[in-house]
Amino acid sequence: MADMFNLNGFGGFMKGLTSFMPQDDPDTKVFTATNELNELKQKEVEIYAAIGRKVYQSISNQPEYSDFVYELQQNQYRQEKAQELLRLAEKEKSEKNKAMEEDLEARTCPNCDTLNPEGVKFCQECGAKLGQKNQYVCAKCGFKNPPQTRFCGECGNKL
Ligand SMILES: [Zn+2]
Ligand SMILES: [Zn+2]
Repeated sequence: MADMFNLNGFGGFMKGLTSFMPQDDPDTKVFTATNELNELKQKEVEIYAAIGRKVYQSISNQPEYSDFVYELQQNQYRQEKAQELLRLAEKEKSEKNKAMEEDLEARTCPNCDTLNPEGVKFCQECGAKLGQKNQYVCAKCGFKNPPQTRFCGECGNKL
């Protein structure tokens, strides 16, 4: 509970910064005073929030707080929606990245590492067949061996 008001991490960081600055310089004084004020204001907001959480249950049915209660419920409802959107967007993002990686890998020559244009079946640099990346990845240990390798360089497994 006490941790909630603990801003020493940030404050300590700021104090660490100002210790490198000349202490009698007006710039340093402005900087230090501004930081202290911001820190105290932030702490004040957190204390109010803690009080609010504590008394919320007992006041949530009282008409004079109905606007706040409504606003809070709307906020929490929108948070749930936003959370769901975020989850979907992250999933979409990772699928997109995966597709891009797979496309890059399929177009990269297993023999000479040249990145070929889309729709190309043979490497335009060395003529090797593209899309055969798996043949050089060891089935036993996953090590990526250079082309034409007969035994895995990592574990000795026959490829
Ligand atoms: Zn090639
Ligand atoms: Zn291996």
